[in-house]
Amino acid sequence: MSTTALHGKSFIGKEPSAEGRRSFLATNPATGATLEPHFREASLGEANRALSLAERAFTELRCRPPAERAAFLDRIADEILELGDALIERAVEETGLPSARIQGERARTVGQLRMFANLIREGSWVDARIDHAAPERKPAPKPDVRRMLVSIGPVIVFGASNFPLAFSVAGGDTASALAAGNPVIVKAHRAHPGTGELVARAILQAAEKTDMPDGVFSFLHGAGSELGAHLVRHPAAKAVAFTGSLSGGRALFDMAASRPEPIPVDAEMSSVNPVFVLPGALKARADELAAGLHQSVTLGVGQFCTNPGLLVGLKSDEWSLLTTRLKDLISSTSPGTMLHVGIREGYEAGTRNLASVSGVSVAARSSLAADAARTQAQAMLFTAEASTFLEKRELSEEIFGPSTLLLTCGSRAELESIARNLHGHLTATVQGTAQDLLEYAELVRILETKVGRLLFNGYPTGVEVCPSMHHGGPYPATSYSHFTSVGTAAILRFTRPLCYQGFPEEALPPELRDSNERGIWRLVDGQFGR
Ligand code: NAP
Repeated sequence: MSTTALHGKSFIGKEPSAEGRRSFLATNPATGATLEPHFREASLGEANRALSLAERAFTELRCRPPAERAAFLDRIADEILELGDALIERAVEETGLPSARIQGERARTVGQLRMFANLIREGSWVDARIDHAAPERKPAPKPDVRRMLVSIGPVIVFGASNFPLAFSVAGGDTASALAAGNPVIVKAHRAHPGTGELVARAILQAAEKTDMPDGVFSFLHGAGSELGAHLVRHPAAKAVAFTGSLSGGRALFDMAASRPEPIPVDAEMSSVNPVFVLPGALKARADELAAGLHQSVTLGVGQFCTNPGLLVGLKSDEWSLLTTRLKDLISSTSPGTMLHVGIREGYEAGTRNLASVSGVSVAARSSLAADAARTQAQAMLFTAEASTFLEKRELSEEIFGPSTLLLTCGSRAELESIARNLHGHLTATVQGTAQDLLEYAELVRILETKVGRLLFNGYPTGVEVCPSMHHGGPYPATSYSHFTSVGTAAILRFTRPLCYQGFPEEALPPELRDSNERGIWRLVDGQFGR
């Protein structure tokens, strides 16, 4: 398929549709050039139709065997690959991200879809629990009680700008919501509408080829404040997935909570991902740490939710050496193109505000000027004393982009105090030796209460997609700290438990029958087994 085949319409179920009055063009952030075609914003009537179709599709989808949904997910992966270079080229044009990065992201997207297909084919994810009846129990008979996870209903997905494939139209949110048995309606991100349309077509082709009900997937262009808000408030919507700004995620969360029937909004929003560099590690490898931190701060022009925005260490010669090395590395970093003008403006405003705080110094910035016409941003290193951070809460806010704030502490107590004063984050990292870990055990105890993922001697960027990954964290990192948006456990966000009491074997879902015909792992009368 060539990109000239893009039509700029939404998809209401399988039908292309363009009834809205407003339209917009995508922009190549690396050149400032606009990209054809015009994308027509969906009308609220189109949104209503997508939700009605989704509601109808849900009644069918939830009764389909998991193998059919798995075939659908696998087919989406195939169709995405079949888009070939057209997808890569359009995504590069719309995001300014390098081709190799987009190709890596496509592999991740396809891998996630296949991972969820395998998960539901195997089936144990439903967490089946069975407690057999004990009619002879005294003083009251015990009933037969059985429980498993089931689908929740139509899910509204707000694609992320910083992962145009892996966290967008067919990204982890869509894959996990479909895997759980829910129809999905994607509110397209305006920063990559053509990429979105191509992927939406791949999903709809797959739906057609695997005989999914119409309405299993819809894709709508439009403004978050109007179309997005309407989708979230619609009574047929049963859950929302979001990755983006704290203000956007919080607005959607509040909107969903104030509906007559509140619904969950799983939002991944804002995280500074502090890195604590302990003395043993500093003595052993200050140079190597500076290089590793620099790479993590500037990777992808800093546009990762796990970007390390806070580096904390104890005053020492080695900490000064690391600071000097980091200054050199930041100065020699070329300015990079950001995903869209809004993100660049947010970065410029955030770094300007930080630089104006008394006690904070701009220790280094890219020596080359950033070209605004190419949506570029300079890498920046800020420094401050720990006491400044403890006095000024605004220093703990996320600045989305290639900058970091390096804090110097005068004592271990001050270092622990920094940790104690953190709000919720996705990750915290400790760089240290085994001896450091013993001496700073209290720091680790504190950090355990602040984040969803603790790293030792690693860097927070680069999130492995695997069953044990937790990509979430206490507010404001996410709206629900008990859920992850990466890895197989992401499916849990779009499910609810359903308990059957006293049902005869033949009327139960296969997962809860004594025969265990699907051969899944279950908790039966308190014992795990197959
Ligand atoms: P965003 O502004 O939060 O937008 C994400 C999506 O949510 C868009 O589709 C947007 O629609 C919609 N939206 C935003 N505010 C809304 C509201 N009040 N009501 C309804 N819908 C709303 O995120 P972005 O454009 O990707 O980037 C902007 C900033 O978000 C970045 O500078 C960064 O600070 C942060 N961000 C964080 C992460 C992370 O992983 N932590 C990732 C990406 C971005 P419209 O575009 O139509 O408004």
